[in-house]
Amino acid sequence: MSLNVTVTAYCACPICCGKSDGITSSGALAKEKHTIAVDPNVIPMGSQVHLEGLGTFIAEDTGGAIKGNRIDVYMEDHNQALQFGILETKARLFKII
Ligand SMILES: [Zn+2]
Repeated sequence: MSLNVTVTAYCACPICCGKSDGITSSGALAKEKHTIAVDPNVIPMGSQVHLEGLGTFIAEDTGGAIKGNRIDVYMEDHNQALQFGILETKARLFKII
């Protein structure tokens, strides 16, 4: 399955998450180049997701602003996440659970 998605970035800071423990909604610790936040109604939690131009990630977080075809990529640094801005790309899903 391939879908057009809008990608933004976030970090584990209180500005991005309202908390700073780095624990995702799935219970896993957020990791750079690994964790993405998704709308679980669109992308099942635990899915392996290849984002064209960015690499392959695991859907293991959710977020209040992450609805529909929107994906948030986890980054360790807040400024880096801000500088990422918005990317329109394609996602390919590989169900791994
Ligand atoms: Zn942040």
